Amino acid sequence: MMTAEEYIESLRRLKTVIYAFGERLDDFVDHPVIRPHINAAALTYAMAGEPQSEELLTAFSHLTGIRINRFTHIHHSTEDLVKKVRMLRAVGQRTGSCFQRCVGHDGINALYSVTYEIDQKYGTTYFRRLRDYVLHLQETDNMVAGSMTDPKGDRSLSPGRQADPDLYVRVVERNGDGIVIRGAKAHQTGIVNSHEMLVMPTAALAEEDRDYAVACAVPVDAPGVIHIFGRQTNDDRKFGRLDQGNACYGTVGGEALTVLDNVFVPWERVFMCGEYDFAGMLVERFACFHRQNYGGCKGGVGDVMVGAAAAAAGMNGVAGASHIKDKIVEMIHLTETVYSCSIACSALGRPTPSGAYLVDPLLANVTKLNVTRHIYEIARLAQDIGGGILATMPSEKDLRHPEVGPLVQKYLKGAASVPVEDRYRIIRLLENMTGGTALVESMHGAGSPQAQKVMILRQGNLAGKVALAKKLSGVERCEDKACLARFPSCPHFRHTALQEKE
Ligand code: SF4
Ligand code: FE
Repeated sequence: MMTAEEYIESLRRLKTVIYAFGERLDDFVDHPVIRPHINAAALTYAMAGEPQSEELLTAFSHLTGIRINRFTHIHHSTEDLVKKVRMLRAVGQRTGSCFQRCVGHDGINALYSVTYEIDQKYGTTYFRRLRDYVLHLQETDNMVAGSMTDPKGDRSLSPGRQADPDLYVRVVERNGDGIVIRGAKAHQTGIVNSHEMLVMPTAALAEEDRDYAVACAVPVDAPGVIHIFGRQTNDDRKFGRLDQGNACYGTVGGEALTVLDNVFVPWERVFMCGEYDFAGMLVERFACFHRQNYGGCKGGVGDVMVGAAAAAAGMNGVAGASHIKDKIVEMIHLTETVYSCSIACSALGRPTPSGAYLVDPLLANVTKLNVTRHIYEIARLAQDIGGGILATMPSEKDLRHPEVGPLVQKYLKGAASVPVEDRYRIIRLLENMTGGTALVESMHGAGSPQAQKVMILRQGNLAGKVALAKKLSGVERCEDKACLARFPSCPHFRHTALQEKE
């Protein structure tokens, strides 16, 4: 396994092409807009080596029996699934932001079971290739980005009917050595500080879109790969420290638009090529794994928000007020609710034909839908407790200014025992965690709420629920003779009708 320092050094050896703020970055590792995200991902390496978190951050490979970083592990039990959620909460508590490495982890787990089933149907060799790739990740401890979301263009049109056929990633050439792909992937969490990217289709596909049914692994610095880093709310704050809020780990994951301009992929790294009928299955399984996560990582982030709100109240001298305590209880309740959902969908996981485990799909989608609501409510309560100062506090430069600095010090004092600079730090942390980009990530990361609702309706067995109601109300004839024997005097008219008939 790599240490955090080795991970950071390994990024320096890559030739990753990254543009941000209109410039190509020479040294992205130490660049202030990128470094916090690197620090967050580095914690997934550091914690694997810490005795108190080793049990959650590491696992034993089912391929070699060797201890590996859990972010390269294939789940083989419900215990594995539960430990993943506990791991995400533990890391989230330390970063207070996204640590990015889960997306690729979910990608390899989804592809593991799907490639097995493609091979069963078509006699292909994708599963062996994927297993070799997992082995490679376990041996190198590389970070792999999960590259699913295509730009999608006109959402009412399928991939092949777009005005520009490149708006979804597709195969443009096949030859004896491999394939050439073209297109782009959007919202790429952690990709600029990953070693590799795992390309997957973004939607269920029809036969006419066969060229878009492609899954493969590509180094992030392969020829033709260009990353254009996204802006975040208040990202120029990263150039200061006190104003930044979460100076070490930043806000959410550091996303990029990644362009694939005729990128060659050798066959050994191709895990789906034309099997359009499996694209939907892959998207669903990946989505289930990633939605499972959100009560874990956001549970950890929620813990930090609760702590920051309670600290802010203490600094204002109102920690003992009953309405503050009530709001804090509500925030804890909501945090534990999303965490409980993640644990539940993991505990009810089931084996797939490959032997790898998949979470309960219905409960995984419920988890993520709850996160789209509860994190907003937790943030609302945190802002309520934090006060209007979250939106009006002067900058760090004013705090340090020779003339107005002492005035800021004097008039922004809360409880007499609390240094103003400490109050600054907590308020900026709250602003950072409850502001724009952080909340949008909870809404749209792992798919927008509507995507979860579609899955919930599909998985929710509505017909079964209607049947329950019809049976109990007598709308439907009850044929259950055992029930009849137990309650011979049941006034239920359908029973009576059945008795009379008999
Ligand atoms: Fe992991 Fe959460 Fe970030 Fe997704 S949002 S990559 S689950 S930390
Ligand atoms: Fe995310």
